Amino acid sequence: MTNFKTDIVVVGAGPAGLFSIFEAGMLKMQCHVIDTLENIGGQCSALYPEKPIYDIPAHPKVLASELIELLEAQASPFKPTYHLNQQVLKIDRQADDSFIVETSKNTKISCKAIIIAAGCGAFGPNRPPLDGIENFEGSSIFYSIRNKKEFIDKNVVIAGGGDSAVDWAISLAEITKKLYVVHRRDKFRCAPDSASKLKKLAESGKIEMVVPYQLEGLEGDNGLLKNVIVKDFDNNLKKLPADYLLPFFGLAMELGPILDWDLNLHKNHIDVDRSTMQTSQKGIYAVGDIASYQNKLKLILTGFAECASACHDIYKIVFPDQLYHFEYSTSKGVS
Ligand SMILES: Cc1cc2nc3c(=O)[nH]c(=O)nc-3n(C[C@H](O)[C@H](O)[C@H](O)COP(=O)(O)OP(=O)(O)OC[C@H]3O[C@@H](n4cnc5c(N)ncnc54)[C@H](O)[C@@H]3O)c2cc1C
Repeated sequence: MTNFKTDIVVVGAGPAGLFSIFEAGMLKMQCHVIDTLENIGGQCSALYPEKPIYDIPAHPKVLASELIELLEAQASPFKPTYHLNQQVLKIDRQADDSFIVETSKNTKISCKAIIIAAGCGAFGPNRPPLDGIENFEGSSIFYSIRNKKEFIDKNVVIAGGGDSAVDWAISLAEITKKLYVVHRRDKFRCAPDSASKLKKLAESGKIEMVVPYQLEGLEGDNGLLKNVIVKDFDNNLKKLPADYLLPFFGLAMELGPILDWDLNLHKNHIDVDRSTMQTSQKGIYAVGDIASYQNKLKLILTGFAECASACHDIYKIVFPDQLYHFEYSTSKGVS
């Protein structure tokens, strides 16, 4: 039993995945898009949302987060369905050469073609190895922040020593009741300006620095945290009253199940025919960072052109009885 039926399943909602929706839509093909992360945007959203990009054609300077908003808006007339927070685990070819794509949340989608736009693989947060952590994830423990307001007047523990931990500490210090920053060293790996802002907030009492400590345990009931236990290098324990724990230990990237899909892989990249972006498997295409061919440039703009090549080739699979006429968007419009 499948839950959904569509023309194309796109694996990955990074810039290449998002632009695939547009290119497919212009050719009257519908897409379902799956991503492991809880937000669309791939590396742009997860790794550098606030950084300006300078080499997107016709955008002398655009923030990575703005680029993703624009790509989402450009795709939206074609009403894509996003399945976020789930990893594509399995692709099963059917007797009629269609596919059933299955995710970690048991979503099953039947489709005629697949575009793999999986970048360097599935992202996932590095989770601290704490007993029972899964009972609190999604209610009291978050690896990314969607809505700052949730933390107003709350006891919050931020753990980690990189840019994300420091930037969020600076941003939340003004609104929380009590904010702890737990880090195993007293040095932070962040921009010097952020480090001095953090120091000032700590000196003014808006943040309590818990260094050098590391996370040791969690206390609470029914998904709601009460305390975070931390430990120093002499095994001294400390209890921090906490409504929320925000661990920022970076993201892990792994190709994971893609390795089992019987594709021509080459150093964790998928070999494609550059003229069509089809992989060694009929009906399965790859675009963006994950697609490999001679002299490939891993840039966002390269990925965009690859999406167009893939979708024009997929048209023949989705509409086998229709003659394909090339048309500019200026003649076709977006409907
Ligand atoms: C700090 C930094 C700065 C950069 N600056 C520039 C720049 O200035 N200009 C430029 O052109 N490029 C830049 N890049 C590179 C650019 O971000 C990448 O080329 C681009 O993001 C690739 O897009 P993509 O859609 O192919 O893959 P990604 O953005 O990597 O997105 C892939 C998505 O696929 C998902 N995924 C993977 N496997 C699965 C699975 N099995 N199931 C479900 N989902 C899956 C991942 O979670 C991810 O969200 C920069 C990169 C970094 C890290």
